[in-house]
Amino acid sequence: MPEGDTIYRAAAALRTALIGKKMTRFEAPRITGVLPRVGQTIEEVRSRGKHLEIVWDDGIVLHTHMRMTGSWHVYRPGERWRKPPRRARVVIGTADWEAVCFSAPIVETYRDFDPRRHPILGSLGPDLCQPDVDFDECVRRMMSYDPAETSVAEVLLDQRVMCGVGNVYRCELLWATELHPWAKVGDLSRDECRDLVDLAHEMLRANVSRTARITAPSVDGGLAVYGRQGKKCARCGELVRVTHHGEANRVLYWCSGCQTVHTPSVTAPRRLIDDTPTDQHPAARVFAEPLDDAS
Ligand SMILES: [Zn+2]
Repeated sequence: MPEGDTIYRAAAALRTALIGKKMTRFEAPRITGVLPRVGQTIEEVRSRGKHLEIVWDDGIVLHTHMRMTGSWHVYRPGERWRKPPRRARVVIGTADWEAVCFSAPIVETYRDFDPRRHPILGSLGPDLCQPDVDFDECVRRMMSYDPAETSVAEVLLDQRVMCGVGNVYRCELLWATELHPWAKVGDLSRDECRDLVDLAHEMLRANVSRTARITAPSVDGGLAVYGRQGKKCARCGELVRVTHHGEANRVLYWCSGCQTVHTPSVTAPRRLIDDTPTDQHPAARVFAEPLDDAS
């Protein structure tokens, strides 16, 4: 039977294989309800006891509980699975890996609760994935945001201002515009709001038909900060950080060296997790070993 440390190790392997990657395949034949979509980015893998959760950047969460029988495996595409395919409850594919959950008794999905991202609770803003967007309307919604002390990092995810910006784009937009993530939306000028909206539209449109998501073509991997904690910022050389931020406590990647525009007078990131060991396991070593086994 899988113990907590087995699941902890499985989570570490899943992090290495999945986090920051664009999902190319999702199969979960028996799940009903909200499903993550192909093309979304995998944002977090959390484990607690025998629970393992995978979070996508649009806020969808897959919850699995291993009980006595369940296990997660990670394979290279085409590699032979060590358990029968008919026992696969979930298959998550990226360009380089396949993560398979076998025989878990509990497999379900839900949406991370964030009332401000819930379309029923407020009218949605213009959809930035469309070619023609009412930019002035987005700017108007951003400039009249209430309360004005809300951080721009939170406002970018609020689909009532504009639709389409998930967590990857939020982090990349803030880096591209050199805005401090805790900058208050009320401190932004009209031009700064317009820049954010224009750039968000540009990034989303550029990636509509791409398989790999690219927001910073000059950076290896195509993303400037997202998923790059501990690596050097391409602009200033400072190390990229990751924190949790906002009401929904989503992860936020940023560079404290160059994202300094509108730095709030009191910076109080709620929970710094820079020191959390995420992927200390060299992938090859972890994947070479069996991750379960339900013995
Ligand atoms: Zn920097």
